[in-house]
Amino acid sequence: MAKHTCAICGAEVNLMSGQKLADGNYICRKNCGKKCFKELDKVSAHLPMITEHIAQIEKGTKIWNEVLLPLKKSKSKDEKLVEFGTSGGADLYVSPSTGLVALVETHYKIFIFGKYQKACVYRIGDLARYDYFEEEQKNSEGKMEKKHFMGLIFDNTTGMAAFNLQLPTKKACDALEKCFNEIFGIQKTVRNSLNNAKRQMDAIKSVAGAVKAAAQGNLDEAAVNQAMGDVDAYVRGDRTEILAKADAILAKYR
Ligand SMILES: [Zn+2]
Repeated sequence: MAKHTCAICGAEVNLMSGQKLADGNYICRKNCGKKCFKELDKVSAHLPMITEHIAQIEKGTKIWNEVLLPLKKSKSKDEKLVEFGTSGGADLYVSPSTGLVALVETHYKIFIFGKYQKACVYRIGDLARYDYFEEEQKNSEGKMEKKHFMGLIFDNTTGMAAFNLQLPTKKACDALEKCFNEIFGIQKTVRNSLNNAKRQMDAIKSVAGAVKAAAQGNLDEAAVNQAMGDVDAYVRGDRTEILAKADAILAKYR
């Protein structure tokens, strides 16, 4: 059997004990592969992504234990974490009060009472997409069963920037979507339609201004950036505040 070397720890691996990455590198399953989340698609990952992902978990686990986990017991309604539990996979915790979201893997220790967790922590404001999709999968009895997923993609993120979260029901997926919509102020309730209208007007005015400037031949970069920012805010909601909250905490974890 062909022998390879784990590109991270140098351990000798073969086709069984090693995982081949998209760039041809191998990592060992026993040690380095286990450090990664199951949600990470290793087959299409390159080595730098794996090392960044391992660093992301190291930092994320620290933030989870020191900042987010204590909020789980918070009595304050504003500080409460919103939990989206999966069965078997990592669970998602949304923390509007800190502007952070954590994907948390829980490992139960057999024979020893207790558990340990590892986490990837993201800025909620970097969430680029959160889309529902469903898939037919065979269950343990061989019957086809509908599975429900939310596909999450984050901007400005090194390591694992995208993953699919399998939630127990469509209803749970809708609740997660609603949770993010509310944070970004883009739900279509009467209260927020005013907000939407204002952002839409800002976007239209900026774009119109930029187009006018272009027609007059004096288009400047600032006007274009302003217009693009306003369009972005219209589509994604205004994320200034939620990003600032997250950065205040992340500054301590550089
Ligand atoms: Zn290794």
